[in-house]
Parts: sequence; structure tokens; C-alpha cells
Amino acid sequence: MSTNASEFERARKVLVGGVNSAVRAFRAVGGTPRFIARAEGAYMWDVEGKRYIDYLGSWGPMIVGQTHPHVVKAVKDAADRGLSYGAPNVMESELAERICALFPQVERVRFTSSGTEAAMSALRLARGFTGRTKIVKFEGCYHGTADSLLVKAGSGALAFGTPSSAGVPEDLARHTLVAQFNDLPSVDAFFREYPKDIACVMVEPIAGNMNLIRPAPGFHEGLRKLCTEHGALLIFDEVMTGFRVALGGAQEIIGVTPDLSAFGKVIGGGMPVGAFGGPAKVMEMMAPLGPVYQAGTLSGNPIAMAAGLATLDLIQKPGFFDTLSDRCARLVAGLNDAARRAGVPFCAQSAGGMAGMYMMATPPASFAQVQTQDVERFKRFYHLMLDDGIYLPPSPVEAFFFSSAHSDEDIDATIAAARKALAAVA
Ligand SMILES: *Cc1c(COP(=O)(O)O)cnc(C)c1O
Repeated sequence: MSTNASEFERARKVLVGGVNSAVRAFRAVGGTPRFIARAEGAYMWDVEGKRYIDYLGSWGPMIVGQTHPHVVKAVKDAADRGLSYGAPNVMESELAERICALFPQVERVRFTSSGTEAAMSALRLARGFTGRTKIVKFEGCYHGTADSLLVKAGSGALAFGTPSSAGVPEDLARHTLVAQFNDLPSVDAFFREYPKDIACVMVEPIAGNMNLIRPAPGFHEGLRKLCTEHGALLIFDEVMTGFRVALGGAQEIIGVTPDLSAFGKVIGGGMPVGAFGGPAKVMEMMAPLGPVYQAGTLSGNPIAMAAGLATLDLIQKPGFFDTLSDRCARLVAGLNDAARRAGVPFCAQSAGGMAGMYMMATPPASFAQVQTQDVERFKRFYHLMLDDGIYLPPSPVEAFFFSSAHSDEDIDATIAAARKALAAVA
């Protein structure tokens, strides 16, 4: 019989570490990754037939839950009309029109097949548009796996970035300046040092890849001001937050308008998609109209466009985000209550349908603070929850994801499991 353990052993013989995306290997929590056989609504089932309430949501895309009939029908209908053309299809225009309507500064969109490609291409466009080389990113923010973005802070505040992955040339990494999230002076210092060299500042407007970290009041206003003053582009990477924390993304909540926005995850409804967009005068620097090259065989793929459009149909219904936010907030309140009862330094918070839980007493406001979590306690908590049928992202530095398919019973079951697990790790 197929078990998670036997499948992991098999996978490791032919896939590096048994997986195709590093965090799936459970290295941060230990133990055996679950091999998923199927998913429906708010649930996933592994190859052993065990059911989990799904708070991974494929790392964000599944905001209406798995196998939503409207999305599945759209995908099946599109498949009947062909899987890929390599020539324009009208669904690309339709999805782009919806994005433009929801994000006022977005006049032109380019679709890609992943968030990585979207962020990488937006970066190239910013460099091409400004004629500048350096970029600013933030420690702990993730923008996919482009070489220029796999860079961490060097030693010393104004030091060049250094590669955070082997295989990234030092020569490239030195053009990436790594500032601290929620620390405006750390960005200001780079602009003082390189006033004419910075092409863009790229940021997750609500950070979600060092667990969920909210922006401090004034942080994004300050970034906006610095970029405008120095002729650099402000790029919001909304691959995770777009259509997830609010219909109009984090920028709708924060009220700051970036120059370029990157999207992914929800906009593909579970199919491989990325997108980026901004004003025509910037976007039209890109091929075929301008000198910045960008292309993709499967970009704007009809199946992906169909899944994205069908997902938007559902989340654009009046009240969708209010209900989603309220229910996710109820879950978070239950988790916080469970922590108080157990007397464990643990807390949770949410933004729309995105949430964070932390093995610490109050939510972190910086990359440094999120590192102070009790990781060993998180690991024990994680596996107790998993055994109890609650599938959380397998790492203490990841956000978790709520969907409209999660019922009151699912929320209650999750809170009950957290009470037990937190009491056990107290
Ligand atoms: C997931 C993510 C990416 C990368 O998207 P992929 O589709 O995995 O390539 C980029 N930026 C942010 C903020 C993300 O959360």
C-alpha cells in the first residue's frame, strides 16, 4: 500500500529531496511530507486517505477553496477549446481589463507563468525604464527565485548585498541593496549613498514570506516619497497579497500607489500564472513596443486565464471579502484565546484571507523579531495539529491561508485542535 513514507522514499530517488519546491520537503518542521491524493473545498486528503483542513491553499491561490465547481467548469470548458495556442486569445484581454479596473494605476498588463517571472520581469523593466542598475529589496521579503532577488544583506548597514543562494554571482548581488522592512532610515541611507543609481524599490506591501508582518504606519508613504524624489520606481509585489488581503490588494488597504505591481497566485486560480502591470508609459518600454525584452511560450495560457477569470467572478461578488475577513478573524481570535488558556506565548493575526501565527507573545514587526520565535515549540505544535487533521504551512516563517470554503465547523475544529496542541506544548 502507498503511504506518505513509502512515497517520500520513492520520490527522493528521482526528485531532489523528493520535491519540486524546497519548502514542501518539511525541513523546517521535520517529519514526512504528506503526499496529497486529492482536494475538495477546504480539505485535502493524503495517499493514506487521511483528511486535513487545508490552510496551505497551495500557498495562496485557492481563495475559493479547492475544486470550486465554477472554476473547474471554466477550466474544463477552456480545455475543450485547446490547451495552448501561442497566439492571442480574448481571455487575456478580459483578465487584464479586470486587473486594470481594480488597480487604478495599472493601464497595461503582461501575463507570465509564475510570480517569479513577474517579479523578475518587473525588475528588468524598472532597470530598462530608468537606465539604472541598483535595486532595493528588504531582508525577509521574497520575490521568487530570480538571481538579483536571491540576495541578503551584507555585513554593515550600507554594504552591498551578498548572494543568499549558491550560484548567484557576487557581481550581480552587489547591485541589490538590502534594507530592513519597516525601517525607513535603512532605505533612506541607500538613497543618500546612491541618489542616481537606484532603479526601483521592490517590497511586499504586507510581508507574507517571513510570516505575516504588517507595514508600520507611514512606512509605505515614506517609500513612495523617497522613490518619487529620486526618480526610482516603487514596485509592490502583490503576488501573495493581491486579491487575497482585499480585492484591490494591499495597496487598497494601505492607500499608497506603486508604479508597478506584480501579481500571481489568486489571479491564476490554482493554475501557473503571474502578471505585472503599471502605467502605459512604463509598460510600453517592453517588447514588442520597447527595448526591454520579455516573452513566454505559455504566457496568457487559456486554461490559466479561464481559472483566473472564474476565480475573480467569485471574489468580485459583493461582500465576498467582508465575509472572508470576518471568518478568518474569528479563527484568529479563537487561536489567540487558545493561547491564553494554555498560557503559551503564541499569537495570530489576519489581513483579509491571509493570516499569520507565531510562537511568540505579540506579532512581530520586523524580520529580526520573527526570528525570535520558539522554533522547537512550533515544530511540536505543527505535528500535533497535522496529526489532528489541520494542515498548516510547514514552517514558522510562513503565512497561512483561509478560503471561502472553510465552514464554521472547520473553524471550530481548528480552534479545538489548537487548544489541545497548545496545552500539550505549554
Ligand atoms: C509566491 C511569491 C512569489 C513567487 O511566485 P511563484 O509563482 O512561486 O514563482 C513572488 N513574490 C511573492 C510575494 C510571493 O509570495
